[in-house]
Amino acid sequence: MEAAAASEDCCVKVAVHVRPLIGDEKLQGCKDCVTVVSGKPQVQIGTHSFTFDHVYGSTGPPSSAMFEECIVPLVDGLFQGYNATVLAYGQTGSGKTYTMGTGFKDGCQTGIIPQVMNALFSKIESLKHQIEFQLHVSFIEILKEEVRDLLDSTSLNKSDTASVNTGKVNVPGKPPIQIRESSNGVITLAGSTELSVSTLKEMSACLEQGSLSRATGSTNMNNQSSRSHAIFTITLEQMHKLNPVVSGDGSHNDIMSEEYLCAKLHLVDLAGSERAKRTGSDGMRFKEGVHINKGLLALGNVISALGDEKKRKEGVHVPYRDSKLTRLLQDSLGGNSRTVMIACISPADINAEETLNTLKYANRAR
Ligand code: ADP
Ligand code: MG
Repeated sequence: MEAAAASEDCCVKVAVHVRPLIGDEKLQGCKDCVTVVSGKPQVQIGTHSFTFDHVYGSTGPPSSAMFEECIVPLVDGLFQGYNATVLAYGQTGSGKTYTMGTGFKDGCQTGIIPQVMNALFSKIESLKHQIEFQLHVSFIEILKEEVRDLLDSTSLNKSDTASVNTGKVNVPGKPPIQIRESSNGVITLAGSTELSVSTLKEMSACLEQGSLSRATGSTNMNNQSSRSHAIFTITLEQMHKLNPVVSGDGSHNDIMSEEYLCAKLHLVDLAGSERAKRTGSDGMRFKEGVHINKGLLALGNVISALGDEKKRKEGVHVPYRDSKLTRLLQDSLGGNSRTVMIACISPADINAEETLNTLKYANRAR
């Protein structure tokens, strides 16, 4: 039965988030064509029916249930040393940025990232007597298979105008950011800003700065649409201060036994999944579309390889190297890491075709 894939040992969980009809769609007279089956993690569109790990409809409570069920386990895992990834997938306008909170402005707290930050800091507060913590944040975007640093203040002004129009995503004179893999499989970004933060306020400021810096280009569908993948990464380092070791004669040993843990959480607002033709793309913009599809295509292949237990047992090759996106997420997708994909969909009938594409893509991940 389909629901079996929702078992505990599956490393990728898939949730669907249906946003309400928005003003524009209502003005156009759009009808709601998506049904969330009550009491089941099931969604229907036309004659198609899909079952996922979770489905959140637009009539339910906003995102608190989603946060509790999908995200809290990942935050908890971070404290146990497990890497994790949250991916927001869907066409432009489906609610990815709203859901992730990557459009963070003026202290808005509704998205996943602000909620993660709150949960993280309250947990740290409760544990700080036994554990020493260090937090780092990076915020990058991948556009046309190039990595751009959203926390580099020198690129802030250029991102909105010159770099978008010319297609150049790196600051002149700066070496391009490179994805590196250490001998023990840890992925690092050479040349990107990694800020050390110690308060919620400092971390919020990183989210805000990067969100503002994020390159957006206008398309026919949505002039705020983004053709890039934005990745907000929180790295948590912990040094457990265990009790002093007591020797056989009852005296305290000078050496404290310590345990070090390091884990990271990637929060990803993926590029719009719509087909290039629908956004009226041409020339340079079309090229961007092609590259975006490369990342989403590779991600779909990686997640589907990870989700297939039979393939996993046979040690089937997972094609991480096919795109910058999957390469960067390599040590946080699969293995011991936890992954949640949130497929964002619009309920409007004019988006039915893309909604179906999104549900099919998400379904492959199970
Ligand atoms: P995307 O990032 O996928 O392009 P956005 O997050 O920008 O989409 O959302 C598109 C529009 O829909 C925005 O105006 C946003 O405020 C609105 N929206 C998205 N999700 C919701 C929601 N759950 N409730 C209300 N409005 C939403
Ligand atoms: Mg967006």
